[in-house]
Amino acid sequence: MRPHWTEKTDAMAGRISQMQRVLVASDFDGTLSELVDQPKSASLHPNARVALLKLSDLQPRVQLAFLSGRSLHDLKTRLPAVSDMAALAGNHGLEICGGGLNFNHPAGLETRSALDALSLQLNRICRQIAGVELEDKGLSLTLHYRRISSRDLILFERRISQLWLAENIGRHSGKMVVEFRPRVDWNKGHALRLIIHHFGIPPDSVYYLGDDQTDEDAFSEIAGQGHAVHVGNANGLSRAALNAHDPEDAAKFLQWLAERLTEGQGSFHR
Ligand SMILES: [Mg+2]
Repeated sequence: MRPHWTEKTDAMAGRISQMQRVLVASDFDGTLSELVDQPKSASLHPNARVALLKLSDLQPRVQLAFLSGRSLHDLKTRLPAVSDMAALAGNHGLEICGGGLNFNHPAGLETRSALDALSLQLNRICRQIAGVELEDKGLSLTLHYRRISSRDLILFERRISQLWLAENIGRHSGKMVVEFRPRVDWNKGHALRLIIHHFGIPPDSVYYLGDDQTDEDAFSEIAGQGHAVHVGNANGLSRAALNAHDPEDAAKFLQWLAERLTEGQGSFHR
């Protein structure tokens, strides 16, 4: 079982004061916000907001990055103030901006017409099965089915398996969501690598928090060097070395990190 982050604070604290530059990167849904039935109503956990504002104050020594399956615009609106100088990666890294970065994966434009055709099929599913909602995120499409009744689940799964998908569109399952996005070798791990490289942060000074399957690519990217924190059930398979129980616990970790970095700030300037 993965150790809870508090079991490793002694080992981490010693290293933090030595770190000259730090990247704190995080997923949003289920990591910085509680999972909710309506994705539109997800909001930043108030304790995470306090911790992230403290970390923002430590810029430029501390850089912040947020990587999400949400569109860039959607992600930004959910991180008021804390995202001002941060790098934001939307659509699992297909679009990245902020912190001096401006990146758009070319596959985004190439697949839009295929996504338009697919959305006609997905809208039909939404009309036929209650509790299924389609979100168009520009570069990808997401079906949310958190509110589906259990008796409709088999029908939903059958309809998903019967979809006709263009060759350049891939299907991905997450927590009560099915996502359709360009079939490219590009994920949160690649996006994190690009952000780390852009800020010039040593890999052992990178923290990444996430809760879902798509975060595993980011965990792998920093495995053995950086500090990966899986948020949620500690028994679940994950490449992250550390665990936080839930978004509230993840906020406590960020708070702890902000305090250690604030202490280290004095020695950094001396
Ligand atoms: Mg998540």
